[in-house]
Amino acid sequence: MRSQEDGLRDRVAEFVRTRVMPCEPVLDAGGPHAAAVLRELQARARQEGLWALPLPSELGGQGLPFAGYARLAEAEGASDHGPAALGSASLLDATMLWKHGGDRIRGRYPARLAAGELRACYAMTEPDTPGTDPFATATRAEEQPDGSWRVSGRKWFVSGAGGADLVTVLARTDGEPGDREGLSLLVVPTDSPGFHVVRELPVLGAGGQWEIRFDGVGVAADHLLGGRGQALPIAAERLRLGRTLRCLRWLGQAQRAFDLMCVRACSRTGSRGALAGHQLVQSHVFEALLALRTTRPLVHEAAAKIAAGLDAHVEVGLAKVAAARMLQQVADAAVQVHGAAGLGPDTPLPALLRTGRAARILDGPDELHVTSVARRVLRAYEGGAT
Ligand SMILES: Cc1cc2nc3c(=O)[nH]c(=O)nc-3n(C[C@H](O)[C@H](O)[C@H](O)COP(=O)(O)OP(=O)(O)OC[C@H]3O[C@@H](n4cnc5c(N)ncnc54)[C@H](O)[C@@H]3O)c2cc1C
Repeated sequence: MRSQEDGLRDRVAEFVRTRVMPCEPVLDAGGPHAAAVLRELQARARQEGLWALPLPSELGGQGLPFAGYARLAEAEGASDHGPAALGSASLLDATMLWKHGGDRIRGRYPARLAAGELRACYAMTEPDTPGTDPFATATRAEEQPDGSWRVSGRKWFVSGAGGADLVTVLARTDGEPGDREGLSLLVVPTDSPGFHVVRELPVLGAGGQWEIRFDGVGVAADHLLGGRGQALPIAAERLRLGRTLRCLRWLGQAQRAFDLMCVRACSRTGSRGALAGHQLVQSHVFEALLALRTTRPLVHEAAAKIAAGLDAHVEVGLAKVAAARMLQQVADAAVQVHGAAGLGPDTPLPALLRTGRAARILDGPDELHVTSVARRVLRAYEGGAT
């Protein structure tokens, strides 16, 4: 029997397919026209009762529990613009500020993020230190006599920084680069003097990532997220939730590439019939389906553990690597079956392939998750224990 959640998932899928996907070329181009189209889509989502489904009700969202949201995040994420159009793109920032911010942060930002009035970004990666090693962070926040902070440093590949109203930045408040202690998260309004957007950094030709600079930016004492030196547990919590959300969305994007591949295989015909009749094309279909079907349960296992508040380190690591590889593989197969059309401007496949490639680096490259999961698993076997 179909549940209420199935109905909601179908409505989200329909909204993304009929309203968001046709606007993708405009939204991808960015600029004022894209912003206006996004606002129209957001208004429509509100009218249809689909706005901010997973955001807590105290922030103006619909309070759908994460376990329920995980079932429809795949449909919502089939377009990169789905989460922004449906008001769930703010889930990560609003949740972290609401959970770990003091009274002033909680009062000022999360509800406005959930309403789509403000946009936030998260800045951890630096040009001159490895993003895979947060202890090397060189950005500094110096405490001032009145308890406020002065932040200096550079960050890059910060998603959405060009249009953000606030940035959560990882900075060293104590100790020296390399120390395991002394890292904090600060919430910085982007209209603060000394905050600069340096340049956009196209990723395989697509915009959306930015380099930013902090030139002695003043930050109020109450804009520290969590306590002084408490960055790493909060960052880890954020990354686990963020990676799981991305994996769910990548499943939706891979399913989209898979569907396009199958339609093309059946509709493209030559003197020897449809492409679908070639065994090597069937092999692409089989391998892509296998990758999708074996990855989906891993992602939902990670989501279920997150929803239950359990330790999900291993499950999220497995899901992240599997989902990134899978999206790259499925998108690549779909491009192959489309021939030159798969590389041209008339399908979303180049964008899906680009997302799949970037997926293997962003939120921590594959290697980091492979070693981190393996180390954790092996710990249980040390000393001959089984
Ligand atoms: C599209 C996109 C969006 C992004 N969005 C954001 C964002 O919003 N905010 C943000 O802060 N960052 C963001 N990033 C940056 C991303 O998180 C980092 O690029 C990533 O964590 C890797 O850091 P790095 O680039 O400094 O690579 P490095 O740390 O220099 O690593 C380079 C390579 O070295 C190898 N390597 C590193 N560590 C290990 C290891 N332990 N074992 C084996 N090999 C290893 C891997 O092959 C790795 O790819 C984004 C990146 C992209 C591409």
